[in-house]
Amino acid sequence: MTFKSSSYTSNYTLGLHEIGDNCFAYLQPDGGWGYSNAGLVVGDGSSLLVDTLFDLKLTAAMLAAMSQAVQAAPIATVLNTHANGDHCYGNQLVRDAEIIASNATAREMVEVPPAMLAALNNAPGEIGNLFRGFFGDFTFDDIELVPPTRTFDGRLDIEVGGRSVELIEVGPAHTAGDTIAYVADAKTVFTGDILFIGGAPIVWAGPLENWIAACDLISALDVETVVPGHGPLTNKTGVAQVRDYLSYVLQQARTRFESGLDAFDAARDIGREMLGNPKSQFADLTDYGRICVNVDTAYRSFNPLHKSPDVVEQFRRMANFEVHPAR
Ligand SMILES: [Zn+2]
Repeated sequence: MTFKSSSYTSNYTLGLHEIGDNCFAYLQPDGGWGYSNAGLVVGDGSSLLVDTLFDLKLTAAMLAAMSQAVQAAPIATVLNTHANGDHCYGNQLVRDAEIIASNATAREMVEVPPAMLAALNNAPGEIGNLFRGFFGDFTFDDIELVPPTRTFDGRLDIEVGGRSVELIEVGPAHTAGDTIAYVADAKTVFTGDILFIGGAPIVWAGPLENWIAACDLISALDVETVVPGHGPLTNKTGVAQVRDYLSYVLQQARTRFESGLDAFDAARDIGREMLGNPKSQFADLTDYGRICVNVDTAYRSFNPLHKSPDVVEQFRRMANFEVHPAR
């Protein structure tokens, strides 16, 4: 069956969804921290998996849900769209496949190994409580990170059981090396975390301009179905919403930077305007505390000497912002 745009949200249920033309999306509501989506493109005799999940239990459940679809077309190729663990920590369970990522993603993957998240999740005191608040649902202790076996820069056209899939690197944006997978014969694109639907995007790497350009690139593709990295299936309307958020934040951050406001004060100020204004198209976004990271990243692009807080402080700011939404 093919999803019509009006049915996207009502079909946002856990599990494998056929989106037509032997393409599938594996969705994990509610799409918040760590609850990512993955994709499957089934060809003649072999399949492509777009991303693994955050831990081995979730990835095993996904592979079990896919077993029938890939019975005559085993997963021969895996794409990791980027280096965040919720898109690659399950690689261990597909280690016999060729695993593809951009060079930037492959480099970034070794910087935040599962052992680091396990240590943060298991830490005593305030830091442990902070990280368990974000990632306490997941188990990182037993994960061996399996890196990509094939890397590329820019673009890579691959063949999946007679079907052609275009891998297009659009980062640095969300991370250092984001890649999207375009399946032209199905008018479908798997965007990884270039799209968050329902929740705020988080701009770890930036610049925001690159991410806006990535949205424009996706909008220019001949696609009807868009599989985001988090949230329900969407179409070009969802792409436009993410673009609108990013350009609004970029513009608002620039105004405050030019008037000399500190990045964190600017984030709180912009967050207040987005959340406190019922007319704001962004008032309903979940994970809105990500504004703290997004404005800080924008400041880095305005002033290369701007020093960002470390990752623990970034999470602390987001957590505090969401507990005390400065409305
Ligand atoms: Zn993600």
